[in-house]
Amino acid sequence: MVDFIVVGLGLAGTAFCENLRKNDKTFIVFNDRSQTSSRVAGGLYNPVILKRFTLSWRADEQLPVATKFYTELEQFLNVSFDEKLNVLRKFASIEEQNLWFEAADKDKLKAYLDTKLVNNENALLKIPFQFGKVLETGRLNTKFLFDSYESWLRKENRLLTGTFNYDELDIEQDVVTYKDIKAKNVVFTEGYGMMQNPFFNYLPMQGSKGEYIVIRAKGLNESNIIKSSIFLIPLGNDLYKVGATYHRKDKDNVVTKEAKNELITKLETLLGCPYEIVDHMAGIRPTVKDRRPLVGQHPKYNNLWLLNGFGSHGITIAPWAATSLYDRIEKELPLLEEMDIARFAPN
Ligand SMILES: Cc1cc2nc3c(=O)[nH]c(=O)nc-3n(C[C@H](O)[C@H](O)[C@H](O)COP(=O)(O)OP(=O)(O)OC[C@H]3O[C@@H](n4cnc5c(N)ncnc54)[C@H](O)[C@@H]3O)c2cc1C
Repeated sequence: MVDFIVVGLGLAGTAFCENLRKNDKTFIVFNDRSQTSSRVAGGLYNPVILKRFTLSWRADEQLPVATKFYTELEQFLNVSFDEKLNVLRKFASIEEQNLWFEAADKDKLKAYLDTKLVNNENALLKIPFQFGKVLETGRLNTKFLFDSYESWLRKENRLLTGTFNYDELDIEQDVVTYKDIKAKNVVFTEGYGMMQNPFFNYLPMQGSKGEYIVIRAKGLNESNIIKSSIFLIPLGNDLYKVGATYHRKDKDNVVTKEAKNELITKLETLLGCPYEIVDHMAGIRPTVKDRRPLVGQHPKYNNLWLLNGFGSHGITIAPWAATSLYDRIEKELPLLEEMDIARFAPN
């Protein structure tokens, strides 16, 4: 008998497991890597939507929780996956530069938009104006984070690699049984995989496919994350991640020629040096119709729970939303209505 079964080990699953570990709960995790979103993510944490210069949803509440969470996780695993990097926003016009100053004057954005503009010092970047610098930003090496967390789970005999088969779940009032495992609760954190989950696939998840390429650009020597029409993210050793795309139609993790060409076209408006493409990856963001997370209790089964719908901001939302769900289950604290799945009635 365990306290929890957790299905999925992306950002959502990891953040929820950490709440369990810190509160001495027993748990077992199923993960099959059928979804790739958290592993292929750019890994950026950045509180500002850089298209419109607005704060992303509740980022001022989420960012301090996320920062503390990842620092503690690094300490616990004794690894380093969080790199504090500047995000520099390329301005396409003087009008855009003026909009930056207008935004930086707003109370909620003051702490994140630097009013001291930055000159471009890299001759290999095509930058017509100055840069705006976003504060409190950085990048997580998510692949390394999950490899490290999986190793720890495996050592503890808490990870079952494979697909959780929904048909084999037997649900009673106070206990669920899955094969030979009994648990008090199941928390589903499957990302876009939720669409296969018969208990929760009535919810309006849309999904947005995203692709990145990785380039090697010798001599570019850029140490900041540059945001133009795409992000250019330094990975070290002359490697840079370039992306991402947003497409609603395709719902698989297969890379496409179209996305690659789109990224190359955008990259060439920014980069003035030769490069080679060394990798290409795709994943589906678990986006929701109303752009809010999907968190809460199944309308019929009181021991089934969902933690999902983080869209393009999983890094900052996951630790905050995972603690809200934990507090809902264990302390009966209410969830924010905006993210509670009770806002959607089942069919
Ligand atoms: C290209 C791209 C770039 C992105 N960049 C950023 C970024 O820079 N910053 C940011 O904050 N966010 C970014 N995102 C968004 C972020 O990655 C997502 O918000 C986040 O990954 C969602 O995490 P999750 O744990 O909910 O889902 P997932 O990462 O999809 O994890 C779900 C896990 O559950 C497993 N699973 C599913 N079904 C089952 C089953 N039946 N049995 C067992 N296991 C199962 C899957 O295999 C997977 O491991 C990006 C996304 C993409 C696609």
